[in-house]
Amino acid sequence: MAYIEPAPIKDKENPLESMMERFNIAAEKLGLSDEVYNVLKNPAKQVIVSLPITMDNGKIQVFEGIRVIHSNILGPAKGGIRFAPDVHLDEVRALAAWMTWKCAVVDIPYGGGKGGVRCNPREMSKGEIERLMRAYTMAMIDVFGPDKDIPAPDMGTGPREMAWLMDEYSKAHGMTVPAVVTGKPLVLGGSLGRTEATGRGVMVSALSAMQKLKINPFQATCAVQGFGNVGSWAAQLLEERGLKITAISDHTGAFYNEKGINIEEAIKHKEANNGTLEGFKGGDLMENPGDLLTLDVDVLVPAALEDVITAANADKIKAKLIVEGANGPTSAKADAIINDKGIMAVPDILANAGGVTVSYFEWVQNRLGYKWTADRVNRRSDRIMKDAFEHVYQASQKYDVPMRIAAYIVAIDKVAKTYTFRGGF
Ligand code: NAD
Repeated sequence: MAYIEPAPIKDKENPLESMMERFNIAAEKLGLSDEVYNVLKNPAKQVIVSLPITMDNGKIQVFEGIRVIHSNILGPAKGGIRFAPDVHLDEVRALAAWMTWKCAVVDIPYGGGKGGVRCNPREMSKGEIERLMRAYTMAMIDVFGPDKDIPAPDMGTGPREMAWLMDEYSKAHGMTVPAVVTGKPLVLGGSLGRTEATGRGVMVSALSAMQKLKINPFQATCAVQGFGNVGSWAAQLLEERGLKITAISDHTGAFYNEKGINIEEAIKHKEANNGTLEGFKGGDLMENPGDLLTLDVDVLVPAALEDVITAANADKIKAKLIVEGANGPTSAKADAIINDKGIMAVPDILANAGGVTVSYFEWVQNRLGYKWTADRVNRRSDRIMKDAFEHVYQASQKYDVPMRIAAYIVAIDKVAKTYTFRGGF
């Protein structure tokens, strides 16, 4: 399944503004100097290219391609490439900055980047998509590089497109360069453990938070919204660690079982049913799927869409802990309500960073020319996630702020300090 990184609050608020709202609070708490603030609020590089492609009907169509590097002060930029009809510069800028913070929070040596091509891959043939991906790669041949900018899949792209990118880049350099891109098929140097990495990181974050909140996993209940890559892995791994998953959902409906849903059965049902939970008999179909978010559970894992916890429903949430598997599931306006209620929210830039962590491992393995076992990948990513949680938790205590702002503080502080040491303005 492609790595999907939707805009924080797509179509509802300007994504860049919504990200900056949290950035501003953290910058103020940190006492960030104006100079560094001004550097960080603007992307380091923005490239817009025009991509003429011969379509299957023989006509030439021109597509717009974007790549934004928000910061490469901590290392090469890292971020996915989105193929979508409505992708625009503001969105790509916000997502690139988001990647800077995410990589800094988990302390991996990457900056933030993001790319987009304005097209509708659903209406294009495989050959047209391949020509477009290769043209985009060639147009960005001086931008990409294992030490400069390492793309990955995002909405509308997957391992197939990453293989084309790797091939085109390698041909232009006269040698095979697997480390130029992550999210590749396993045979081309993809990493074991990548599929479950994000859900696994959600599980590690949830258990770390439960320890702080003194919630016993063997007596805890949990609801998971979304049963795709992140949600199904998070549910399975949390169930294995003792939690009772009383509700799960996907776009076809939500299912509740007071005694606990058997996640293995739910996954089997999904696999046999075109990837959906429709018709699942291991729980009662909820009348209003949105009610899953306000169930009386200890832990809530939104792992589907952005902007589902809003000012309209935040005061009805009963969970003691929210662990954000999805990107941007909580709107900026809901933050204050959640905080007033004393709910701990482990933010997306921390909770779902297991995915980018294992993408980093893919790059490391490519550069080593060696393949790690799944066990080694899992152990190392668990350690990174645990350390990152503890670091953010300590910052939340020190600055007396919620975990979300603490995560931004940790990230901005790291990037700002690096700017100060490197200097050169
Ligand atoms: P996915 O496409 O595999 O799964 C999405 C799931 O959400 C599906 O089960 C879908 O049915 C469900 N869904 C859609 N609309 C819904 C609705 N209205 N109510 C309930 N469920 C609904 O995607 P994914 O890779 O699991 O990504 C989920 C979220 O996690 C996204 O926000 C993504 O950006 C974020 N994320 C993913 C990764 C990763 O490695 N896959 C990494 C970081 C963040």
